[in-house]
Amino acid sequence: MTERIAVVTGASKGIGFEICRQLAQQGVNVVLTARDPGRGEKAAATLQRGGWNVIFHLDVTDLTQIHALADYMERTHGRCDVLVNNAGIMVDQRGASVLDANAETFRATLEINFYGPLQVTQALVPLMRKRGYGRIVSLSSGLGQLQDMGDGTPAYRASKAALNALTLMFAAATQGSGILVNSMCPGWVRTEMGGANATRSVEKGAETAVWLATLPNDGPTGGFFRDRKRIRW
Ligand code: NAP
Repeated sequence: MTERIAVVTGASKGIGFEICRQLAQQGVNVVLTARDPGRGEKAAATLQRGGWNVIFHLDVTDLTQIHALADYMERTHGRCDVLVNNAGIMVDQRGASVLDANAETFRATLEINFYGPLQVTQALVPLMRKRGYGRIVSLSSGLGQLQDMGDGTPAYRASKAALNALTLMFAAATQGSGILVNSMCPGWVRTEMGGANATRSVEKGAETAVWLATLPNDGPTGGFFRDRKRIRW
């Protein structure tokens, strides 16, 4: 297979870091991005022992940094084959209901979970188009499924439902261009966000994202997956 290069957002820890590790293991070159340079460098150093990887400072809410990343990919590598929109937060108050949730919590959550992927994807798609190849994977959640939509963690739910809509829009906009765009749910994963009681390891949580990031040319686009199987929006 041609050598590929991937960008993973929010990869200083958790599922994002594990996605970098599994991609690197498959021989994909990884640009591990993190909003905290110190934490990112530590994570990248762990990976570097295993292969060729670099760290890039990226807060997904900062458009200047997003453009700097796109410039870097263009100048240094002349390409970007894979984008994993992994960075995300869940900051709803414990037990929050949509009946009285603070709109500010919605704004803060959408800033990272929705506007982040929107702007990072917009910045990197042109590089993918140039080479007629791209894989875009967004870490969504079952909590964003419309068919199961309920109360609780309302800002997070709204942000992931909106992220899923973005997946469909980007998939439609890139149809036939060699770019495959999909959402996935990692399940309930033991990370800082998922907590210690979660049922899945980070290895398992990252698996489907890595599969989508390395899909063959006839792979699906515009889908929502868990455990490599389609799930409903
Ligand atoms: P995590 O351990 O809390 O890690 C989240 C990552 O996102 C961290 O690296 C964090 O960086 C980064 N991040 C947050 N805000 C950012 C920003 N503005 N710019 C760049 N990076 C930012 O969470 P996780 O469990 O690995 O979650 C990864 C993704 O999977 C998220 O999108 C989450 O919604 C989704 N997901 C997780 C679960 C689960 O059970 N864990 C379930 C369904 C979906 P810092 O280190 O700087 O904070």
